Amino acid sequence: MNQLPRTTRTTLKRLPKRGSHERETINQILDEGFICHVGFVIEGQPFVIPTGYARVGDRLIIHGSQASRMLRALKTGIDACVTVTLIDALVLARSAFHHSMNYRSVVILGRATLIDEREEKLAALFALSEHMIPGRWQEVRQPSEAELQQTTVLSMPIEEASAKIRTGPPLDDEDDYAMDVWAGVLPMRMIAENRLPDPRLQSGIEIPKYVIEYKG
Ligand SMILES: Cc1cc2nc3c(=O)[nH]c(=O)nc-3n(C[C@H](O)[C@H](O)[C@H](O)COP(=O)(O)OP(=O)(O)OC[C@H]3O[C@@H](n4cnc5c(N)ncnc54)[C@H](O)[C@@H]3O)c2cc1C
Repeated sequence: MNQLPRTTRTTLKRLPKRGSHERETINQILDEGFICHVGFVIEGQPFVIPTGYARVGDRLIIHGSQASRMLRALKTGIDACVTVTLIDALVLARSAFHHSMNYRSVVILGRATLIDEREEKLAALFALSEHMIPGRWQEVRQPSEAELQQTTVLSMPIEEASAKIRTGPPLDDEDDYAMDVWAGVLPMRMIAENRLPDPRLQSGIEIPKYVIEYKG
C-alpha cells in the first residue's frame, strides 16, 4: 500500500486506530465525497468555506469565480486545510455518552497553486464535472474563452493528509449492555430524488440515461 508520510501535523492522537495514511483509502473517500470545506486565515481571521472539488491523481481541484475571495487568497499560496466528510450512520448507544456516528473523513494540509494553462484548466473543469455527474460534460455547451477567463481553477497536492474512519456498532460500558434500551446503527446515505425538469425545457427532450441512473 502507498502510504503518505505521517507528519507531526497529520498524526492522529485521539483514537489513532481509526486513522489511515494510505493513499488508496484517502482517494476512495475523496472520490465518494461531494463537497469539501476549505479552511484558511486572512489577516488573523480563520474562514472555513464549503465548495465543490474533484481529485485528479494526487491533486485536489477547486474552482469558482475570479472574484472569489477564497480563491484569490488561496492562489497566493497561503496555508490551507481541506476536509471532506462522509456520514454513513448514526450509532445509537445505550447511554447518551456513547452515541456516535459512523463516518469517513479526510483532512489535507497544503498550499494551492493556480492552473492557468488552457488545456490543463479545461481538463480540471472536466474532472470537476465528471466528479459531480459523469456524462454531463460532453452533452453541454463547452466554456467560452470569456467564461474560462472568469473562472479560477486551483490545485492542491494531496501529500500531507490523513483519513479517519469509524465503523460498526455502539461501544457501550459493559454494565449498560443489560439495559432495556434499543441500541444499534441507523445507516444513512445521500440519494437522488425524482428528477424535476426545468420549466423552460424545450419539449421532447428525454431525461438522459446518466441522470435517470444517477446514484449520488
Ligand atoms: C455545496 C456547496 C458547493 C459550492 N461549490 C462552490 C464551487 O464549486 N465554487 C465556488 O466558487 N463556490 C462554491 N460554493 C460557494 C462557496 O461556499 C462560497 O460562497 C464562494 O466560493 C464565495 O467565496 P468567497 O470567499 O468569495 O465568499 P465571500 O462572499 O467573500 O465571503 C464573505 C462572507 O460570506 C459568508 N459566506 C460565504 N460563503 C458562504 C457559504 N457558502 N455559506 C454561508 N456563508 C458564506 C461568510 O461569512 C464569509 O466570510 C459552494 C457552496 C456550497 C454550500
